[in-house]
This record gives sequence, structure tokens and C-alpha cells, in this order.
Amino acid sequence: MSDYDFDLFVIGAGSGGVRASRVAAAHGAKVAVAEEYRVGGTCVIRGCVPKKLLVYGAHFAEDLKDARRFGWNVPDCGFEWTTLRDNVLADVDRLEGLYRNTLDNHKVELIPERATITGPHGVRLASGREVSAKYILVSTGAWPIVPDIEGAEHGVTSNEVFHLDECPKRIVIVGGGYIANEFAGIFHQFGSHVTMVNRSGTLLRGYDAQIRDRLLQISTMKGINFRFNAEMEKIEKKEDGTLTVRFKSGDPIACDLLLFATGRRPHVEGLGLENAGVELSDKGAIKVDDYSRTSCESIYAVGDVTDRMQLTPVAIREGHAFADTLFGDNPRTVDYACVPSAVFSHPPLAGVGMTEAEARNKLGTVKIYTSDFRPMKNVLAGRDERALYKMVVDATTDRVVGLHMIGPDAPEILQAAAIAVKAGLTKQAFDDTVALHPSMAEELVLLK
Ligand code: NDP
Repeated sequence: MSDYDFDLFVIGAGSGGVRASRVAAAHGAKVAVAEEYRVGGTCVIRGCVPKKLLVYGAHFAEDLKDARRFGWNVPDCGFEWTTLRDNVLADVDRLEGLYRNTLDNHKVELIPERATITGPHGVRLASGREVSAKYILVSTGAWPIVPDIEGAEHGVTSNEVFHLDECPKRIVIVGGGYIANEFAGIFHQFGSHVTMVNRSGTLLRGYDAQIRDRLLQISTMKGINFRFNAEMEKIEKKEDGTLTVRFKSGDPIACDLLLFATGRRPHVEGLGLENAGVELSDKGAIKVDDYSRTSCESIYAVGDVTDRMQLTPVAIREGHAFADTLFGDNPRTVDYACVPSAVFSHPPLAGVGMTEAEARNKLGTVKIYTSDFRPMKNVLAGRDERALYKMVVDATTDRVVGLHMIGPDAPEILQAAAIAVKAGLTKQAFDDTVALHPSMAEELVLLK
């Protein structure tokens, strides 16, 4: 018999925490998970899932227009935000139910309360109940950062944006990263006047420069406005509820909604980490080793709270590896090389491996192959939007070290192609593969 109430106590039922709980329980551990809000975490409740559904909803704006060129008599269509919002939120409820079932089926005790660490093996729940566990896993995710400027409280973050009462006529989106670009596309398609405000001159730092430039070009062409190198001074709210965003230099911008998409910081406040000597990095993330173990032997952490890669599939892998290591007699770590990622902008972009700049820095001699083309569907639709695929090849070994693309369905295509890059295949291997015609993906095996 264990001396503890639980073998594993998990704090936070998001992607990483739920995976770790259910796998540990399947290995025979007695597991509890505390969650102060809803089961599913950022991805399911206020991130990837509802966002992707909004992206689908937004795409109809162009699809309905394009359909006319394909012979369909589409009347002028109106868009009702509240219908989409409610359907999306209902689907989130459905998914949350599935997550709860998963925990239930694996006999994981779900405790709907906030938990605070009291020591290496101790946790206190909001109700005052004290529990002990052989191991504690922190998987509390991250939380949106709101810049420290006057009037910032008048803005919203991705936490609130799914619940709006109405679709804003004019929206200002602060930031130039994932969330900013995804919501710029979404609201633009819904008919909002969108202005993106960025403190630097660069969007989506980390992605290949040519692909980023293409997104900027297409976004501008569609009518999204950009204010680069802009330093905000304050946000004022008028009596009619509208906002004015003032800058240190340049004209103010009036809007109905201000969305901060300025990064996310590890969610560690009030967790009691100091009671167990759990160390944080300079950026406030929980420091962990390759096995997700913190500076306290019995406490582990996975997912965004460790700020390794803020991506759902990575958190899931970390949670799974953790559970296998501790409870499955199968010590293993996560391989962070060649993790594909995508931005569900309009059009979407995706990438895996090294960008051209990274490859030039690391490898010296590289070969770059690009295909800059107008997808067949866009041609008939009269849509002047070009896709761009880019392959980065190590000139010495012929190995494909990076693949980057922007265009319709880029994330779907890249997920499959990422297997080849991860497997270390050569450009010749791509060339040896017969094209699947007519498709957009065939460009990948026809690069000259
Ligand atoms: P990102 O890190 O992608 O982008 C943050 C943006 O905000 C950058 O443009 C940054 O500018 C800017 N910024 C940061 N601080 C300030 C500030 N104080 N004032 C003004 N601008 C500022 O963060 P997101 O919030 O968009 O997303 C958070 C994370 O969530 C992402 O990093 C990603 O890992 C994950 N995510 C993934 C998605 C996906 O996989 N499709 C979708 C959504 C989120 P600068 O470049 O100058 O630093």
C-alpha cells in the first residue's frame, strides 16, 4: 500500500494533463486531477478547436463568392455571428464531455477545484481538503499577456473573443503572431474592418521570411490594414462604448473591439511552487529536465507552463512520455526536432524544419527550391492569390531540412510532407515520387 492518497496528482486538465492522467491510470496508477475551470484546457475550450471552427466559418465568405464562378446561383448571403458562436460553443461543450468521459473511464478522480502545492508531496484544494501524492504533475498551461498600458482593461484576449455579443464593425488586433494573424483573417472574412498593430516590423517571427511576406502581401490585398513599428500610448473608452487607440506617434485608431494577441506566459501564479522549491526560468516558466522533472524530485511539469514549445501536440507528447516514464516502466523523452506547425490565417501557412535563414546559418551551403503558383481553383474563381511552396535542402547531403508553404490547405499538405522531412529524406526521394495530378501538393515533387 502506498503511503500517499494518490500515486499521481495532476494540476490542470488541459491537453498535457489529461493525457498524462489517463496514461498513468492505464498503467495502474491511482490518479486525481484538479481543474479550477473546464476540462480540456486552452486547446479545447478557448484555443485551437473553437478557433479552427471559426476559421471554417470565415472561409464561407470567399467560398460563397467563388461558387458563382463555378456556376452556382448564390444569392447575397448574410452572416450571423451569434449562430456560429453558439454552435461553436456547443461543440466545445460536447468535446469537454468527451474529455470528462475519458477521465471517468480511466477511473481518474476529477476534482473541480483550484489546487496549491504545499510541499514536495502535498496539495491543498480550495475547499481546504489536503491531499498527498507520490508525484505531482503541473500542467496549468499559459495565460494571455496584456501589455502594461493605460486603458488596457478595455481590450479583450483570446479568452474572451469566442464569447462576443456581436461581431465588431472595426477591430484592432495588437500583435503579429499566431493569434493575431488567425483572428485578422477570421474577422476580415466576417466583414469587420481589421487593423493589425505590431510593435516591430515583422509578422510571425520564426517562420520563413518569404512565406511571411506572402501572407502580408495577400492580407494587405484582401483589405487588412497594418500599423508596423507602432508603440501604443493608451486606450480610451468613449461613452458610446467605442475605443480610441492612441500611439506615441501617428494617428489614433477608433474601433469597437481591441484584441490583445501579444503572447502567452506560463500560468504559475498562486501554485505554491515555492513551497516545494520548484525553480522558474528567467521567463517565468517551470524549469524541467528532459524527462519533465522540475528541481523538486517528486514534481514534474509538462506543456505550456514549461514554455518549451507552446503547441498542443507537444504538450500531449510530454504528458504521455511522463506517464510512460514514471508508471509504465518505459523511460522516454520527447523529440523536439522537426515539429511541424501552422498558422490558420487566410490563407493558412505551415512549416517544418529549418527556415532558409536558419539553414544558411547552420549548414552554410543550401539549395532552395520554390514553386510560386496560382492554385487552379483560384484561377477559375478569378482570385488573384498565389500559393508559395519552399523547400530548403542541405547542399552537401541532398537532405530536405525544411519545408514551408502558404496556400489553400497548406497545413493538411504539410502534415503529410513533414513525415518525409522528419525521416530525413532527400530531394531526390521527392523527385522519385510520381506526381498526383491535378493537385496542389504535386508541386512538392516537381520542384526544379
Ligand atoms: P506569439 O508569440 O505568436 O506572438 C506574439 C506577438 O505579440 C508578436 O508579434 C510580438 O511581437 C507581440 N508582442 C509581444 N509582446 C508585446 C507587447 N508588449 N506589445 C506589443 N506587442 C507585443 O503569441 P500569440 O499570443 O499569438 O500566441 C501564443 C502562442 O500560442 C504562440 O506562440 C503559439 O505557440 C500558440 N498558438 C499556436 C497556434 C497554432 O498552432 N496555430 C494558434 C494560436 C496560438 P514581437 O515579434 O516583436 O515579439
